[in-house]
Amino acid sequence: MAQFDNIPGYRLLKEEELADVKGTGLYFKHIKSGARVCVIKNDDENKVFYIGFRTPPTDSTGVAHIVEHTTLCGSTKFPVKDPFIELAKGSLNTFLNAFTYPDKTVYPVASCNDKDFANLMDVYLDAVFHPNFYKEEKIFRQEGWRYELNDEKEDIKLNGIVYSEMKGAYSSADDLFYRYCQGSIFPDNQYGVDSGGDPEHIPDLTYEQYLDFHKRFYHPVNSYIYLYGDLDVRERLTWLDENYLSKYDVIDIDSSVKIQKEFGGIREVTEEYSVDNPDENGKGVFYSLNVFAGETDDLIKGISFEVLDYVLFEAPGAPVREALTEAGIGDDIISFYSGDIQQPSFTIGVKNAKPGMKDDFKRVVFDTLKKCVKDGIKESSLKAAINRQEFRYREADFGRLPKGLMYGITCLSTWLYNDDMPFVTLHMNEAYKEVRAKIGTGWFESLVDRYFLNTGHGALLTFLPKVGLNAELEKKTAERLKAMKAGMSRAEIQKLIDDTAALKKYQSEPSTPEQLRTIPLLSVSDIRKEIKECRYEEVFKDAGKIVWENYDANGVAYIKAFFDVSGVDTKDVPYLGLMSILTLVDTAKHTYGELNDDIYIHTGGVGMDVSTFKKYGDISSFLPCISIATKTMADEAVTAVGYLDEIIRTSKFDDVKRLRDLLFMMRSDIESSYTENGTSVARARVASYFSESASFMEAISGIDFYGFLKDITDHFDERIENVIAKLKELSAKIFTRDNLFISITCGEKELKAFEKPLRDFIAALPSGKSEKHMKFVPERRNEGFKTPGQVQYNVRAGNIYLAGEKYSGVFDILRSMLSYGFLWNEIRVKGGAYGAGFSCNNVTGFTCFTSYRDPNLKNTYENFEKTIGYLETFEADDREMTKAILGTFGDIDAPLSPRQEGERSFGIYMSGVTDSERQRFRDEALNCRPDDIRKTAAVLKKVLDQNYFCTVGSAKALDEEKDLFMSTRTLV
Ligand SMILES: [Zn+2]
Repeated sequence: MAQFDNIPGYRLLKEEELADVKGTGLYFKHIKSGARVCVIKNDDENKVFYIGFRTPPTDSTGVAHIVEHTTLCGSTKFPVKDPFIELAKGSLNTFLNAFTYPDKTVYPVASCNDKDFANLMDVYLDAVFHPNFYKEEKIFRQEGWRYELNDEKEDIKLNGIVYSEMKGAYSSADDLFYRYCQGSIFPDNQYGVDSGGDPEHIPDLTYEQYLDFHKRFYHPVNSYIYLYGDLDVRERLTWLDENYLSKYDVIDIDSSVKIQKEFGGIREVTEEYSVDNPDENGKGVFYSLNVFAGETDDLIKGISFEVLDYVLFEAPGAPVREALTEAGIGDDIISFYSGDIQQPSFTIGVKNAKPGMKDDFKRVVFDTLKKCVKDGIKESSLKAAINRQEFRYREADFGRLPKGLMYGITCLSTWLYNDDMPFVTLHMNEAYKEVRAKIGTGWFESLVDRYFLNTGHGALLTFLPKVGLNAELEKKTAERLKAMKAGMSRAEIQKLIDDTAALKKYQSEPSTPEQLRTIPLLSVSDIRKEIKECRYEEVFKDAGKIVWENYDANGVAYIKAFFDVSGVDTKDVPYLGLMSILTLVDTAKHTYGELNDDIYIHTGGVGMDVSTFKKYGDISSFLPCISIATKTMADEAVTAVGYLDEIIRTSKFDDVKRLRDLLFMMRSDIESSYTENGTSVARARVASYFSESASFMEAISGIDFYGFLKDITDHFDERIENVIAKLKELSAKIFTRDNLFISITCGEKELKAFEKPLRDFIAALPSGKSEKHMKFVPERRNEGFKTPGQVQYNVRAGNIYLAGEKYSGVFDILRSMLSYGFLWNEIRVKGGAYGAGFSCNNVTGFTCFTSYRDPNLKNTYENFEKTIGYLETFEADDREMTKAILGTFGDIDAPLSPRQEGERSFGIYMSGVTDSERQRFRDEALNCRPDDIRKTAAVLKKVLDQNYFCTVGSAKALDEEKDLFMSTRTLV
């Protein structure tokens, strides 16, 4: 393996086997520039590259975040206005983004195609080292912040993409709470300010300060370069040296992360957040205790804190959680360990408590922890928590995020602070063993004693609701802007009007064809012609309906048991939404705490879900289901399937106290999801105006369900008997053999192991199937929902099948083309929203236009409509079309984990879409011409004419545009 120690320009510092990721770790220093380069060589086709910089900020102007946005707005070699978008819509990337952290900024890309991967690296490296924003201040104004004035009579406004993004973030009480928790113990260093930017402080940032920040930190000597996957290491490093690194000499940069000095005890801190109305029950206060927790390069301690987090605070039955709930302090408990910063910290908190309970909160936490230290922490719980983490690590399923990216980001949690430690976090299997061996030695108790009970540095945070705080802030800003305008001369006002117009003009001018051609492009022939196969097969037919998706998942099997609930009366549907309490209540054999421990000792978890299936192209078809799922290794097959049986057949619904806790927690979860997920809330809602299955989902998990849950929790004592009776009645009705169908994703060997347990599971279920009772009659409501936030989430939707149209693969092209093209430009670049999108589903026909963290409302709806005109007159040369097609397939063909492959195959099986139809979609997308795009205008016009829309947004915007909606009301 001595092949890597003589690459010109580099010194090989480390070479080690990384068994966990089936690869070799190579760590280089680039001699001339001082750059650090970490390589993980294995045979993963999904290659990853990133370049990161250590960028600790000193204030909350969001300078690191604004630099992150703007580096990707054009560079010397690639002078287009938005290379990020050119790549997003024109490459086969499987990941493309950039992240600002509290002390670092990271620019990652991923691709399975070698040529594409090389192109992505080139564009990203030129972007970070030679950005165009030195030459063009408008880039800073567009992405960061600006004053806007369209004509003399108007008021001056503040706008900017990062500004809107952060206004959205600061609209969420949860989000703010996390910021303040962190801030409370770091008053003196970078972790006490917000690298993302506080909307109150963003306008303090000058263009010069911003340029200085880039000049100071963006040099190879301050960089962290990462390469992962099946790549030619020598070729990539040589290219990197010749094209970028060799142009720099080592210089002295102070990017050191400052250390927070210990307080020597616990401080008290109070902060506020905005609400529109006082809480009806006089609650709404958050409390938290925040402490330092170990050292960043001590992996064993880090894992141990994560284990403690789960065991003491998070797990059902966790002692501190139980004690706080018992004492009636708050509706929900939150806790987290932050191990990826220089001084790791730990937070334990409650949400939605009453005022004046600060001391009770602290006392209950400390008393319970003292008791845990004295009596010892339950060993089965520790074991369960370690297994749970280890299972996730081995499974390495990060959804759409490439594995290699997650490994690389984790590396930085030690590498950023210690040059000698790039690979520590890739030896977790060993570490888990070591941590497991500490059970029964007093180790975990000693950590609690040292870091919680005898903390040398902590903060007790009280987070209070304040009615109208946001309105006050907005008024203050408006007044400041008015005063500013009043103090401006005619000439200054004219200059602002001119600047506003100049920026708009700049934003409307596309990059020239010469500029666009600088971005390297693959050709359509680089894309596979054939659809990806689906592997599903009905097995053990005599036993019942079991569909096997044959994907080998390193010994893991994923099982999901679905129960058809269409026999349930429509009025009882909301009660189905409460079924998620299964797995969290006692069963015949276990208390809920023991059940949870046992589940994680033997499996990767058990979870409940609701879903609906539709047949391809058939708008009237609709199969509503409740499901219970588990994942486990084959040798635990009997035990794992046994849990499913135990839970659905023997769960106890009678424990009123437990139900109260769970229902309040459920309510609190929904409430906090609203400000974060405005777009999904609005999208689900608007779909319910015209789709029966979406109406079902609304009733069981949407805004309607929230109303139902609110009523129960507000009148708990009156309602609970009926709730218990309904849950019993429904579970007897639903969980029968005749309502059941099963999906299992695994390899052949595992399937064999599961045959008998699954047969036994089915045989043990009672029989019974009721006639279809459920019926929803959707109706147009076009509602506006007010939230305490300061931004909007606008959704306009319809259905192509409802419009009598057919699905075509051209809609796949539209998805990436509009989301990263017309809508991006109008709603994000010009409008200042953080995001915008278009999608159309081939199975259901559901079609929608969305905006995310949007300062606008009416204007955005107008832009959705303008899409039709844009499509009618659509023109594009070959290059543009090639780009649109590539961008679409990067997404469609992204590699999936075995679990995701199984889900995809099962979904196709359930929808009944044939291979020939799927191939038609693919062919249509691959062969898409401008004329095909123009033809979609008529289809989308019909969809928009259906005229369904919904906005979740600020009270101010909704009051101003009240007439647009059939009704408006407060969401929470
Ligand atoms: Zn951002």
